[in-house]
Amino acid sequence: MSSLLVLNAGSSSLKFSLYGVEGAAVRLVRHGQVENLLGNSRLVIDDADAGTHVTQEFGEALGHHRATALLLQRFAEDPSIELLAVGHRVVHGGTRYAAPVRVDDEVVAALEALVPLAPLHQPHNVAPIRAISALAPALPQVACFDTAFHRTQPELAQMYALPAAIRAKGVRRYGFHGLSYEFIAGRLKELDAGAAGGRTVVLHLGNGASMCALQAGRSIATTMGFTALEGLPMGTRSGSVDPGAVMYLLDQCGMDVRAVEHLLYHESGLKGVSELSSDMRSLEASGDPRAALAIELLCYRIGRELGSLAAAVGGLDALVFTAGIGENSVRVRSRVGSLAAWLGLAVNEEANRRHGPLISAAHSRVRAWVIPTDEELMIAQHTLVEIGI
Ligand code: ADP
Repeated sequence: MSSLLVLNAGSSSLKFSLYGVEGAAVRLVRHGQVENLLGNSRLVIDDADAGTHVTQEFGEALGHHRATALLLQRFAEDPSIELLAVGHRVVHGGTRYAAPVRVDDEVVAALEALVPLAPLHQPHNVAPIRAISALAPALPQVACFDTAFHRTQPELAQMYALPAAIRAKGVRRYGFHGLSYEFIAGRLKELDAGAAGGRTVVLHLGNGASMCALQAGRSIATTMGFTALEGLPMGTRSGSVDPGAVMYLLDQCGMDVRAVEHLLYHESGLKGVSELSSDMRSLEASGDPRAALAIELLCYRIGRELGSLAAAVGGLDALVFTAGIGENSVRVRSRVGSLAAWLGLAVNEEANRRHGPLISAAHSRVRAWVIPTDEELMIAQHTLVEIGI
């Protein structure tokens, strides 16, 4: 079977999805991950076709290179698989990449040059690309970016009010979760062509969370900026904090840059406010008032950003909820629905409890949808196009 491999490499895991190619379409056949890359690594594979679940322990740290080699070898040894190409999720494409790109040496160098803009993610994304270039140089690779979809935004939406010399250093609003927004824009076209042709705000609410205003399916504005820290509170990330507060922590509270980084990326957001958990399911199940406060703060920030994004796109025809919280949390959707009443949204609570997909009431001026996102499928589709099939 002609196949495509999609890789999503993080700091401690290498997630993969294997797609069968059927004409111009792709179908997920297997997915899994090499977990705990820096400890006792473990391979987990779920085979959708065979209905099997395989786990293999290694008893040592494989690291990104060996984990990639392991996957390549496994698929090369499987006579049922003929690997056509590999698609990679890459967090940062800078200003240069407004679309997926076929990887060559020059692209790898360009991606590495972007490491300073995303030091916590980009090196891990590039590691498997390098590994495959060395191990299987003839295998086509395609890089798909979280930032690319937002390059359609007006220049003003991508700017900070900083001097030109500082902006020239690349300090601008890039935006993230672009593969998710692109997927949702495509699905919305199938579900609600009217809304897809108009003004939509998509709420990508997972462990990382952001929102994006779309005009006719193109990104006009988004809540994340230079890094994936700006905007909404997230599982463990603070979202927007006055930069003056960061300077205060550095200047007056004896914290160094690494300590502030750890605070804002790993100890804040739902986790920091609740002091219980970063996980929405646990917070919703908890009777602790701090859990309720964390959820309420998230919803409040979503409500305010919604007003801002609706202003950026000149009104609102539809809202889309997606990712773990957006797809599953009846409570968050209901609360956000109330906060968006002034924009003309009325949620049908019964439809909301069923997870829609349409959760707005018949008389609601703004339509609201719940649409599961699929960033891996988006990467597979891009990869297929880039290799000319
Ligand atoms: P990631 O950004 O890591 O891909 P996900 O999109 O999987 O994250 O979202 C994870 C979040 O979704 C967690 O906060 C989790 O608790 C939440 N979530 C998942 N299922 C539910 C549910 N049934 N109800 C409420 N929240 C949920």
